[in-house]
Amino acid sequence: MVHHKHFEISTLRDIYDQARKKELQELKDLETGYIKATLTEAVKCALCFQEDTRTIFEKQGFTFVQCVNCDFIYTNPRLTNTKILQDYTHSESNDIWIEILLTADQTKYNNQKYNFFLDEISRHISPPRQLLDIGCSIGQFMHLAEKRGYKCTGLEQNNKARKHAEDHYGLTVENTLVEDLDPRNTQYDIITMFGVLEHLPNPHDILHHCNQLLVKDGFLALLVPNNGSLVARMLHDKAFGVDGRNHLSYFTKRTLTMILENNGFTDINLTTRVSCIKPIGNYLNYQDPYFPNMDKMDDELVSIIPEVEKIIDQYDMGHHLYATARKK
Ligand SMILES: [Zn+2]
Repeated sequence: MVHHKHFEISTLRDIYDQARKKELQELKDLETGYIKATLTEAVKCALCFQEDTRTIFEKQGFTFVQCVNCDFIYTNPRLTNTKILQDYTHSESNDIWIEILLTADQTKYNNQKYNFFLDEISRHISPPRQLLDIGCSIGQFMHLAEKRGYKCTGLEQNNKARKHAEDHYGLTVENTLVEDLDPRNTQYDIITMFGVLEHLPNPHDILHHCNQLLVKDGFLALLVPNNGSLVARMLHDKAFGVDGRNHLSYFTKRTLTMILENNGFTDINLTTRVSCIKPIGNYLNYQDPYFPNMDKMDDELVSIIPEVEKIIDQYDMGHHLYATARKK
């Protein structure tokens, strides 16, 4: 993707960021500075189920830890399941996120991303087949998939997003959690989850359940933020995607491969996309990475950018981690 000069602004991310900060402030215990204990619970590593961790940083009242056994990074303690679901169905910031998805720049970007996956999926499983899109949001991916002949069902908790998918695209979307689908009643050829797995409290169980819902040799396509990206490694807690309320798991190529293998997937193929060079440049220039006061990089920084872009591509350090896999 060509990073627009003001991609964050043209896609309303500044407005989203303000609303999110306000909501996070309300979750905080003003005495301790941490998220209120009544809203949180301590959890084990979702990958290896061990409890030994080291704290890597704190942000907005959340603590981010790394598992001593397997290096997986996650939020701990984290919001309770009830609170998490509540935020997806009723919160101002999540409604603004829907507006982000409807902006011209974001729509264009997502079309590219989804068409990449559809090219990949159709190389393995040609339409018409049954496709389940978990957390389908406004239905943009399913709309493209149906145009290619796939028979799609979506799952979405957010009312505003679900309504858009139904009314605007005429899609079939259920207000159901994937764990409530019974594999004895329904089987799918393809399951997709774009920007979803990192939000879920129980990624291991969900992937296991997805495996059960797939037919033999069924196909899985995922997209998660890449915590091994150059932007994540450089910005650490300042990275936009480091968000203790929404993003509970921080996958890398290695940890995503592990969790897929542990849940019965094979032929795992991982690639990365989106250099996010602009936020890195802003940060190196002593500015806010995403919303700089002075939107101008110095000449020395500008001259290294093409070299850094090459490294990002070569070492799979892009911001998004794309994964495809097959049921074993
Ligand atoms: Zn672990």
